[in-house]
Amino acid sequence: MLPDPDRLAALTAEALKVGWLTNGGALHLKLEKALSAKEDKNRVASLVSSGTMALMLALGLGDLPQGAEVITTPLTFAATSQAIYWCGLKPVFADVDPVTLTLCPLAVRAAITARTAAILPVHFLGVPCDVHAISEVAQQHDLWLVYDAAHAFGVTFDDRPIGSFGDASAFSLHATKILHTGEGGYITTSRNQAANVRQMRNFGIKAGRAVGKGLNGKMSELNAAMGLSLLPDLPAELAARRALRKTYNGLFREISGIEIHGTRPGASESLGFYALRMPSALREKSYHALLQERIFARDHFPLLCGPDTFWPDSPVVTANGRSPVAPCVGSEIICLPFHGRITQTDATQIATIIAEAVDNRRRG
Ligand SMILES: *Cc1c(COP(=O)(O)O)cnc(C)c1O
Repeated sequence: MLPDPDRLAALTAEALKVGWLTNGGALHLKLEKALSAKEDKNRVASLVSSGTMALMLALGLGDLPQGAEVITTPLTFAATSQAIYWCGLKPVFADVDPVTLTLCPLAVRAAITARTAAILPVHFLGVPCDVHAISEVAQQHDLWLVYDAAHAFGVTFDDRPIGSFGDASAFSLHATKILHTGEGGYITTSRNQAANVRQMRNFGIKAGRAVGKGLNGKMSELNAAMGLSLLPDLPAELAARRALRKTYNGLFREISGIEIHGTRPGASESLGFYALRMPSALREKSYHALLQERIFARDHFPLLCGPDTFWPDSPVVTANGRSPVAPCVGSEIICLPFHGRITQTDATQIATIIAEAVDNRRRG
């Protein structure tokens, strides 16, 4: 989304007028309130400088011993495991469920060792994790549970906002996400924990003294202005995306050999992604056929462990010693252009290109 330039200028002028550029100014407070209002009554949002920072501080809340293991998914954006690394912790990759592509609770159980301290699942492509089963594992083994909700802004599960699950949930407000502040992020937690987040994002300072661990995780007024200037446009954008999903569904249901990546029963649909699944060779063909028409799909996401990654020697742990599905399913996903300015004509063109790409391959 791009903000209305006049609205953004007016908000920025407010910050300039009072001469307050960062450290919890009026715009920051206003955006924090607006985001908290979207959460359950017992949860509040705390703004930070990025989604990666949100993940780091959400892990930081758990006071986990240095070097401890955090079980996470290999099928996500690089930020998830990098946040674990920068907290002095070690990612352990467990396999995903073949249908939802979210962390498999049985694989999580299989990955638990004496050194495990936390679980960091991702609501991948906006599909909620099996939060009930994962929460049961966390409780049984006394593990800190943080969700990476960067893909799941606006999603609900069992009629609850997605940010209400786990000990904390981390959201990104990066320019590529639905609502954004250019760069930014936020954490949803209980009120008590929010006080700790707010101390950590400000160098661990309380009443003028550095009393705990902390760093600079603050969001500036200019970034908050960006987020506030987008808020009034959000309902129309989300409505347009819901309509686009219906249009896409109608078009792609007609094409055999590809699958629409749906969501989990009980969840609202992803507003951040429209994903198809198809054999990886067809995905490559579709991606390049679209690119030739200057249509930029995304072949999200390469695996975060294994050869040529930062974690070359980390296996993907599975339940019952099965071979992992994450390395295969990752190369079957293609995310289509999905935002409010895609027209019916655009959608039809995209579907036609993909139908042809898929068909060509079959003919050989
Ligand atoms: C975007 C994203 C992040 C990181 O957010 P930044 O704001 O870019 O730091 C973390 N996890 C996932 C799954 C993401 O897609």
